[in-house]
Amino acid sequence: MKRICVFCGSSMGYQRIYREVAEEFAKQMASRKIDLIYGGASVGLMKVLADTLMAHGGHVTGIMPQHLIDKEVAHNGIHQMITVNSMAERKTQMLEMADAFVALPGGFGTLDEITEVLTLMQLRMSDKPLALLNIKGYFDYLLRFLDHGVSEGFIREEHRSSLIVSLEPKALLQKLNSFTPVEMDKWISDLKTESHAG
Ligand code: AMP
Repeated sequence: MKRICVFCGSSMGYQRIYREVAEEFAKQMASRKIDLIYGGASVGLMKVLADTLMAHGGHVTGIMPQHLIDKEVAHNGIHQMITVNSMAERKTQMLEMADAFVALPGGFGTLDEITEVLTLMQLRMSDKPLALLNIKGYFDYLLRFLDHGVSEGFIREEHRSSLIVSLEPKALLQKLNSFTPVEMDKWISDLKTESHAG
């Protein structure tokens, strides 16, 4: 695994542990010589991640729409900044460049990026793994919602379980390496069968 795209908050979160584990994750990436691709911002956990990775010799690429650069939230100290025209184009570019995706705690932007990758995985338009670094159980409510989706018949168990979750950076990176994507054909034929039954 050469390049990981990390989604995370443009805010810092109220508790120090979010920042501390983000730093630890960046150090683990740098020690494995994994490059970072991220949103390119100089704020919140995004900045913590980029700065820590660079301080430990890692390579950082940011991908940012011009309108955010104009608002002066771009990180000027990273190795490469790719400018795009929209948030949608940014996600497409992230999907193409990365070998895997990791989400750290964040807000709507992070949630949008997580669900984009999950949807593309479900449609087999992406075979790249996605993992949540569940610092301080931050994603527990989201995971509970996904389980609810499975028990109510709107999310398939195999898609729910293809989402990697880990509390700890080292374990997360190990799990990413042993990921196998979900078989698409069975899922589609099951959906057709269900739709014609009853
Ligand atoms: P949020 O989780 O709402 O703080 O948004 C963070 C995520 O959305 C990041 O992974 C970015 O890709 C994107 N994003 C949101 N706000 C910004 C910003 N000010 N600068 C750069 N990227 C942002």
